[in-house]
Amino acid sequence: MEQSDCHLRKFVHHEKKKSGQHYLKEPNLVVDVISFIMRIRRSSKIVLSFGLGIVFLFYIFIPTATTVTSKETDCNCRKDGDFSHNTAGHVANEDSGLYKSQNHPDDPHKLAILIPFRDRFEELLEFAPHISEFLNRQKKNHHIFVINQVDNLRFNRASLLNVGFLESSPTFDYVAMHDVDLLPLNKELVYEFPSEGPFHVAAPHLHPRYHYPTFIGGILLVQRVHFHKVDGLSNKYWGWGLEDDEFYARLKEAQLSITRPGNLTSSTKNTFRHIHDRRIRKRDMIKCYNQQEITRKRDRQTGLSTTRYHIQSKREITVEGAEVTILNVILECNRSITPWCDCTENVGNTLKGQKKREKMDDIIVPKIDRKKHITQDG
Ligand code: UDP
Ligand code: MN
Repeated sequence: MEQSDCHLRKFVHHEKKKSGQHYLKEPNLVVDVISFIMRIRRSSKIVLSFGLGIVFLFYIFIPTATTVTSKETDCNCRKDGDFSHNTAGHVANEDSGLYKSQNHPDDPHKLAILIPFRDRFEELLEFAPHISEFLNRQKKNHHIFVINQVDNLRFNRASLLNVGFLESSPTFDYVAMHDVDLLPLNKELVYEFPSEGPFHVAAPHLHPRYHYPTFIGGILLVQRVHFHKVDGLSNKYWGWGLEDDEFYARLKEAQLSITRPGNLTSSTKNTFRHIHDRRIRKRDMIKCYNQQEITRKRDRQTGLSTTRYHIQSKREITVEGAEVTILNVILECNRSITPWCDCTENVGNTLKGQKKREKMDDIIVPKIDRKKHITQDG
């Protein structure tokens, strides 16, 4: 609105000049002045003509100068990098500039948004411009990395996060482990550098679906050094679930305190948008071999340092101005450790009925009352 006002004002001024509105009165005035000069004495004529000449020049130039000044002061035209006038929110055009990846020189930190990904293209088209605008408003240096699993194995969210961490430059001093289908809506959710320890943005009291107290999935901000310290995530989690609970056990063991947003004005209903239709985006809950048995426990064998993969290709794309790096990744599976990375041959638990002694400390499965701690939102 302000901008179109501004354009309108500039346009009006231009039209005025074109139509010669500033000069309309000049011919009559000049005739009057000349006839007056003819009627007075010669010496006075020279002085008077000189004075009138100056007044005439002022008359021509002052209105133009005033208009230029008013263009800069009255009109709240948006300058590059100044978004304070854009209150409309989602303006999906080139003019907006809010989506664009940009430098925020006042922010001393740099955030790598790591998105474990496979076959969620529609969600990405919504997510990328949304998060970019959200973080540009907070003036946070950031870049989006989509770690796209292109092999034929089962989806492995944790290993993809390890790959994203290893592939993003160490100049990113913190990472967001970010689901592609979880869009932050409340501007009070600040993606600040987590100096105190991991910051769980998608907290149980805010996430639309998961509400158990030890939940740390969805969106988690972690300092680069802390991610290293715990050797990233386990590589044993092929298929849906528990990789985030195992990561929780790692953080606790390293005595890193997890903080969460407090006192927000929003709730589980309106803090995030979860673009997830479970009929279309089915969760892979299959268990095969001894998967169930092993993935219940803390993994001290695999992590960031044991992640094996190939980068098949790398693409830089822009989604409505948001810059996104896509890493097409082929994960390797060590079948002697995790044969369940491919369940096509052996569905069902081969160790069923076998009772093994387990150290209770090592059990990472949260005890969940599904009714109380999970909402069927998608
Ligand atoms: N994901 C993906 N493709 C899949 C499964 C999962 O891209 O086939 C990624 C995606 O980023 C998604 C995240 O993993 O947001 C978590 O998976 P999902 O949404 O199925 O889990 P939820 O948290 O909804 O139970
Ligand atoms: Mn989801």
